[in-house]
This record gives sequence, C-alpha cells and structure tokens, in this order.
Amino acid sequence: MDNLSVTATRASGARVIRRTLVKDLPLNLVFFGPPGAGKGTQADRFAERHGIPKISTGDMLRKAVAEKTRVGALVRETLQAGALVGDDLIISLVAERLEEPDTANGFVLDGFPRTIPQAAALEAMLAERGGVHVIALVVHADEVIRRLAVRGREDDEAFVIKERLAVYSRETEPVLEFYRRRGGVTILDGNRPLDEVSAAIEAAAGKNPTSRK
Ligand code: ADP
Repeated sequence: MDNLSVTATRASGARVIRRTLVKDLPLNLVFFGPPGAGKGTQADRFAERHGIPKISTGDMLRKAVAEKTRVGALVRETLQAGALVGDDLIISLVAERLEEPDTANGFVLDGFPRTIPQAAALEAMLAERGGVHVIALVVHADEVIRRLAVRGREDDEAFVIKERLAVYSRETEPVLEFYRRRGGVTILDGNRPLDEVSAAIEAAAGKNPTSRK
C-alpha cells in the first residue's frame, strides 16, 4: 500500500512542506474505550495477527505489582482503588516502551492514553513516527457492567468497577473529544460479538489514517 505522507519541516526559518511517498506506514494504533469494552481482547488478536506488540499499561502495572518492583510498590494501592496512577509515571513507562525496537513497524496501545495530558504526551512522542490511529469501541453501560462482572479480576469488585467507570467518564472520555478534533479516530460499535468487532477493526485499520499528516 502506498501512502502519501506530508511532513512539515523548517528550513532556514521558512515552513516547508515535504512530501514523501511512504510504503507500508507503521500500524501505530490506540484501542480506546471504557473498562470492559473488549479493548484488551481485541488488542491481543490484532497484535498477534499483524506481528506487532500489544502494549497494555494495565498489564505493565499489574506485572510491576506482582514482581514487587519500585514502580509496583508505588501503584499497588492506586490499582486496588480503581484510581488512575500519575500521568508522569505512566507517560515515562510508555515512552520507554515505545523506544524498544519491536515497535518500529507498529504497536497497539491498550489502556493509554487515559487523560488529556497523556494524549498530548503521546502526540509529542510520535510526532516523527507517523502519529497514531485511534480505534474507539463504544459499548452500552449495562453491557460493560455485565462483562466486568464475569471477568473476575482483583479490581473487578462491584465498588471498584463503579469507581473505574466514574474515572472513565471524568478523565478518559474527554480524550475522545481531543482525538475527534485532531482527526484520525474511528468509532466502532463494541456491543457486537467479538469476531464482528475484530472484522470491523481490521477494516478500519486498513484505511490507516496515520498517513493524514
Ligand atoms: P481496564 O481493562 O478495566 O480498562 P486496565 O487493565 O487498562 O483496565 O487498567 C487497570 C488499572 O491500571 C486502572 O484502573 C488504573 O489504575 C491503572 N492504569 C492503567 N493504564 C493507566 C493509564 N494510562 N493511566 C493511569 N492509570 C492507568
């Protein structure tokens, strides 16, 4: 697939638009949606199918807690409470992970960005790397609660779920508006069966609007 990429650069103070024909742009994706939307499952499938890493901040943090690392000690209680860990910490974890060479052909981010400062930081990190295409899964609130109730993770107890959903509407939903304004977001109906959602994601990712810049 050929994609036309337009890059703005500065040469001797003047703004210059440089056009290059880029073959096979990296598949830089963010899977976005409320807890229980199926992001993690879809991100696993997509990453496997395309041979790119899935980067789940929730998994990274749970691993840190399980391994009792310094970061793990810092975030353990936050995770149990269903609150968000600090932007600075999570941004530096993701920045470090995106430096790994396995992300060169693309990656799927699951669970990041969750706040406007995180989204802004990600834009800066990827400015020279083709940006990111956001796939947002929209799921009804009662379906989210039903899915989380059957999942049974440690932070899936009823009162923690309630807190995580409240945090989602307060902190994370505005991120979708940020991306809507920026462009490069595809909104999909996540209420459908897994395979249907996977097929919709494949079709959307194929359009690769990361070439819009
Ligand atoms: P879910 O699958 O319910 O969306 P995750 O596995 O993505 O949950 O995240 C679990 C917990 O990890 C969150 O409730 C939060 O405490 C923490 N966490 C994960 N990603 C982030 C992030 N980008 N910013 C802040 N906290 C995060």
